[in-house]
Amino acid sequence: MSAPTRRTTAVIPCALCAGQDITVLAVRDRHAQPLENVLCHTCGLVWVDPRPSNDSLERFYSAQYRQQYKKSFQPKPKHLYRETLRACARVSDFLPYYHAGMRVLDIGAGAGFFSYVLHAQGIASDGIEPNEHYAEFARWQLGLASIRTGFLLDVTERDHYDLITINHVFEHLPEPRAALAHMHLLLRAGGRILMEVPNIEAVYHAPGKIFHLGHLYWYNPATLTALAAQCGFTLLKLATPGSTQHIRVVLLKSVTPPDAAEVAQITVGNARKVLAIRHAHTALAHFLSARPYLRLAKKIVQYAREYTYVRRFSNARELCNAVLKQWPPGEGYPGA
Ligand SMILES: [Zn+2]
Repeated sequence: MSAPTRRTTAVIPCALCAGQDITVLAVRDRHAQPLENVLCHTCGLVWVDPRPSNDSLERFYSAQYRQQYKKSFQPKPKHLYRETLRACARVSDFLPYYHAGMRVLDIGAGAGFFSYVLHAQGIASDGIEPNEHYAEFARWQLGLASIRTGFLLDVTERDHYDLITINHVFEHLPEPRAALAHMHLLLRAGGRILMEVPNIEAVYHAPGKIFHLGHLYWYNPATLTALAAQCGFTLLKLATPGSTQHIRVVLLKSVTPPDAAEVAQITVGNARKVLAIRHAHTALAHFLSARPYLRLAKKIVQYAREYTYVRRFSNARELCNAVLKQWPPGEGYPGA
């Protein structure tokens, strides 16, 4: 029996180029549930199409919430440890972009670990977090009164911030163009965005373990740069460090409107490139490579370290402070 023919037209037009000619990359998520991710033939952007219902998105986020938090709204100690280390790593990587007295907004502040690490460096930051339990934890357990419950569009201080940080949030947003436009309004002239998103080019996960409901868009360096340029941002720095190849960018609020022809050039040949990477990343190729076994070994070491480390502390702040003391940003850390 021949395989069913997959559709070639998107339900939602591409958020970058408005194209609807697509290749279906996957029809299931990492839990083998139906979820279609498609790739735009014109620019190479990848997105969930059609969009899941709000009900299924809510179920997804509440399940994630249950995984990390107990009924007392207390993150598990291993998550405290892991997230504080990650926050130290992120602050370290962008250390030259921070200075005392600047106004920082952290979008998707979560339980506040990133803001906590910034505060420890003498940099005050506002935060916005849609999950009220995460935001409450940041306020009550970490003492971060400046973390509000809400969404990006609820922040209305125009021309106010010197820096916006948005780590592993942008890919969850259903309207990325509107989000960037809003960040543009919130930043002062010369303001910057420090952003990190997963990379659709990454071959870190097994092919069947990539897609899930939360990531509505998947970027690679070209599509992220082009979208930012369309929304009035100049790329200052881009890196895809380590085995995860997450995309880290520094974007500068631009005062001149983007040149459409120049922006279009950024994604020439990109769709073919992304498709080739995804097609080459087969289960056979993945499991014949050293990657999954190195990843497993790294995880075993990480879990053992977490287990022994977190047992020494009785509360969140004590644990965060100990991590900060041992691996302060800029001084090296064991990786997270
Ligand atoms: Zn496109």
